[in-house]
Amino acid sequence: DALLAVVARDAVELLTDPGARALLRQCEGDNCRRLYLDTSRGHRRRWCSSEVCGNRERVARHRRRAAVAARA
Ligand SMILES: [Zn+2]
Repeated sequence: DALLAVVARDAVELLTDPGARALLRQCEGDNCRRLYLDTSRGHRRRWCSSEVCGNRERVARHRRRAAVAARA
């Protein structure tokens, strides 16, 4: 679709820029394979969006911990 086409075109442009390419990361979110530019300080960003994938991961981690605690 149109949005994907825009993303793909941007990605192609980024891939020709060595500086941008060095910052290119793949999101670690479940079911999310989006690419993003890690412009964060220290380059320790792990998700395309901390509000979406980062938050989802935090919730999942909390749920796993709660499940372990319930079993103990
Ligand atoms: Zn993501």
